[in-house]
Amino acid sequence: MDLRLTPEEEKFRDECRAWLEANVPPPFEGAGLNEEENAESLAYLKAWQKKVYDAGWAGISWKKEYGGRGATLIEQAIFQEEWARANAPMLINVLGLSLIGPTIIAVGTEEQKKRFLPKILSGEEIWCQGFSEPNAGSDVAGLGTKAVRDGDHFIVNGQKIWTSLAHVSDWCLLLVRTDFEAPKHKGITALLVDMHSEGVSVRPLKQITGDSGFNEVFFSNVRVPVANVLGEVNKGWHTAIATLMNERANLGAGIYIQIKRTLDALVEKVNTLQRNGKPIAQDPIARQKIAQAYLELEIFKLNSNRAISKLSKSPIPGPEGSIQKIFWSELNQRTQRDAMEILGAHGQLWDLDDGKWVYGYLRTRGNTIEAGTSEIQRNIVAERVLGLPKGYAR
Ligand SMILES: Cc1cc2nc3c(=O)[nH]c(=O)nc-3n(C[C@H](O)[C@H](O)[C@H](O)COP(=O)(O)OP(=O)(O)OC[C@H]3O[C@@H](n4cnc5c(N)ncnc54)[C@H](O)[C@@H]3O)c2cc1C
Repeated sequence: MDLRLTPEEEKFRDECRAWLEANVPPPFEGAGLNEEENAESLAYLKAWQKKVYDAGWAGISWKKEYGGRGATLIEQAIFQEEWARANAPMLINVLGLSLIGPTIIAVGTEEQKKRFLPKILSGEEIWCQGFSEPNAGSDVAGLGTKAVRDGDHFIVNGQKIWTSLAHVSDWCLLLVRTDFEAPKHKGITALLVDMHSEGVSVRPLKQITGDSGFNEVFFSNVRVPVANVLGEVNKGWHTAIATLMNERANLGAGIYIQIKRTLDALVEKVNTLQRNGKPIAQDPIARQKIAQAYLELEIFKLNSNRAISKLSKSPIPGPEGSIQKIFWSELNQRTQRDAMEILGAHGQLWDLDDGKWVYGYLRTRGNTIEAGTSEIQRNIVAERVLGLPKGYAR
């Protein structure tokens, strides 16, 4: 693997750097910490995504025919890095861009690709992922939401939980059970469900941060056209795996930006704050913790580049995405914990930097649960990357 940029890649970096410098909007004033709930903030984030899309910078590795830029995955990585440097707002349609769009590209019909992909990129339609249920999280194939065929439609009844962004979403990639006799992995179908359909109700859940970023979603006799099956009827497990692999492989790119910003802000903080009459930057323990976090972030970046280099040769993300998922989620938690320790009691105040430190610490608790827990990811690495047996023989 050669990690140096080619002259074309350097030109690409300069082009996107210049665009970001000219177009990143000033931070949204008054978004508070409850961004998704705030209508004005939602409008700000949607307008930003539209601007990014209009300039051809959304989903840049997607093919041009689907509204992307046809850029290489290396160029995508360059763009992410420039995004972090420019302190640009995140794209609101993160689930559409990172996991649902790539799944539609992998298994969707041409009509579905033409209908859904451009609006995922432009942010005109926000998506959520309806996989987890109260009794089916790690074991998602144990799901019980039912869909029964009625002519050209399926009638859906059941409940999902922890559905991020459902309260602002227009569409949902929903896993349902369509064959009740088959083994659990063989009776699942993936449906593209209009969240504005009659019978869909969304109940926000309060998180430890005070946000309501995820929800319970109830489906009561919701009619979904058969044309909205993504993949094949009763073969939804195949579709779900494509989504989960993309989730593990793609979400980390945005997380690099987040951790980099946390670290840059922490460096600025320790350079300006004092403890016992001396700058915190002179405290040897604070210095070591920050240097360690920096090292780990660089390792994460190198591994991401390695994964991207591999993906550019074979476009199907493999189980090794779980390595990155474990690494970024635990690194993000360590970095936020270190920041709290370094800032001391001060860091726990909601009125320090608009509560950004305490919020970051609390929000990262969920990182080792969302997109598959660390235990499940370690099982995947053990079994599918290392070829170890499933567990102790009994
Ligand atoms: C912030 C956040 C956002 C989320 N967003 C979404 C979303 O948008 N859409 C969605 O569908 N879901 C979402 N989820 C749900 C998430 O995918 C599940 O919480 C996760 O898969 C775990 O499922 P569970 O909560 O039912 O826990 P369980 O599966 O009940 O697990 C409980 C504990 O048992 C362990 N465990 C379970 N099985 C095994 C095993 N075989 N081996 C070893 N240990 C095991 C787990 O690691 C965990 O520690 C989100 C979760 C969070 C925290």
